[in-house]
Amino acid sequence: MASDSTTSTVDNPLALLTLPDLDGLADAQTRGATCVWCPDETPLTPVTAVDLGEHLSPFDGREMRWFPRAHRRCVQAAALAALHDHAPLCEQCVDDASNCDTGMTLRRLMREYR
Ligand SMILES: [Zn+2]
Ligand SMILES: [Zn+2]
Repeated sequence: MASDSTTSTVDNPLALLTLPDLDGLADAQTRGATCVWCPDETPLTPVTAVDLGEHLSPFDGREMRWFPRAHRRCVQAAALAALHDHAPLCEQCVDDASNCDTGMTLRRLMREYR
């Protein structure tokens, strides 16, 4: 899964996480009312929700602006998944993970959201 995101990993570590396709999401998930990563339909509260920021994703042949939110534990799981996607393909991570911004940022996310 190649990412050509130009967002700085340091400015917005959450931008490193892979979001599901809009097509497969329930309405409540696209509105940020429920978690974007899991089928739990309990509405998120300000205490349980992590704001993932503004995203532009293709939907119905155009770009849709949306503001996904998620559980803290789901952010951690997504960070782990992103790290598993990233690390085997990253020379720096294979060599010495402490030298890779992306790898370090994902590890920090996993510590932060648990
Ligand atoms: Zn969740
Ligand atoms: Zn890396």
